[in-house]
Amino acid sequence: MKSWIEIKAESDFSLENIPFGIGLIPGSGKCICTRIGNTIVNLAGMARLGYFDHIGFKVSDFEKPVLNDFIAKGKKSACKIRTIIQDFFLENSCSDSEMALIRQMALHESSEIQMLMPLQVGDYTDFYSSIEHATNVGMMFRDPANALLPNWRHIPVGYHGRASSIVVSGTEIHRPKGEIKPANTDLPVFSPTMQLDFELETAFVIGKENTLGDSISTAEAEDYIFGMVLFNDLSARDIQSWEYVPLGPFLSKNFASVISPWIVTLDALEPFRCSGPEQLPEVLPYLQFNGERNFDINLRVQIKPENSEETIVSKSNFKYMYWNMSQQLAHHTINGCNMRVGDLCGSGTISGPDAESFGSMLELTWKGTKPIIMPDRSERKFINDNDTVIMHGFCEKDGIRVGFGEAAVKILPEK
Ligand code: CA
Repeated sequence: MKSWIEIKAESDFSLENIPFGIGLIPGSGKCICTRIGNTIVNLAGMARLGYFDHIGFKVSDFEKPVLNDFIAKGKKSACKIRTIIQDFFLENSCSDSEMALIRQMALHESSEIQMLMPLQVGDYTDFYSSIEHATNVGMMFRDPANALLPNWRHIPVGYHGRASSIVVSGTEIHRPKGEIKPANTDLPVFSPTMQLDFELETAFVIGKENTLGDSISTAEAEDYIFGMVLFNDLSARDIQSWEYVPLGPFLSKNFASVISPWIVTLDALEPFRCSGPEQLPEVLPYLQFNGERNFDINLRVQIKPENSEETIVSKSNFKYMYWNMSQQLAHHTINGCNMRVGDLCGSGTISGPDAESFGSMLELTWKGTKPIIMPDRSERKFINDNDTVIMHGFCEKDGIRVGFGEAAVKILPEK
């Protein structure tokens, strides 16, 4: 699909994408936006010119601080809006005067618009669904011969995280402090974490609620998933290894998780569907599913030291996920747990089979035993102060590219 707006071949924001986010528009405040190439489209500006009147959307529907109300109107409505935008910006679709008017009313250079936290996240759940990641962690912390715990191939293991500290790309985070038990001491010490890590994840956004007591089947799960974002679930490994027994991670993971500002719809990801790994042994009926439920999404992590260029430290892919999103959602609600619009479900760290595809520094440096050498010759076992961690994600097939942009976070020294 060619547009009358310039879209470079390597842009994540093709006309096939049309993700949704919240931009801070000069003179208008917080508005629902999309992005085409390097152009931000303010949907409130388009609504002011009447382009969404015929589907019952008013200007005020787009003048919102978060996407929750928009998402709650349903995937069919969002799909109609995507189609209207795609048709309007298609090459040769508008007259010169229409283009001039829309440029004046609704278009902005992406470098001039601050993107904001797109959701009011009510609840956040994090899964642990990459078999390579679970195996690597099990090998390092428990028993290499029995790395996977007995439940792992039977249920999508997860835990409830904290929503208040989920932040948008571009936020700066101070190195957290906490209680750590060094291997060579009998008693714990209080210290800034010395093992600050990223976790390369995606998260899906709940687009429709289920009633408390009802379950969502794998067959209907995708009706409840509005779209996806990149997700960096920052983790303090030394705090984690001391605190996690017996109830799991607590302060090691609730100080910050970073999402990309654009929610890419499942409609946009449709051409990139693929099958996941074979699941053996066979799962119980409530976790069985039909069709292809994974997506081929290339994932990258870069570290940028303060005074040096960024370097890629991980190249993974969402398709490696053992448990897919439909199974995660079916499992989450099988007990009657109710999901609400804007809830986030993290995939868990997405590691692949090769050493370069591991999704955390813990695995990439094998608990710090194999440091990464950066272009400036400095070593990284974990993340240093003033490093920026940048995650990218994109799908590419038959000349079509649909991407997420980036989720970036700079780590500042402890407060
Ligand atoms: Ca995680």
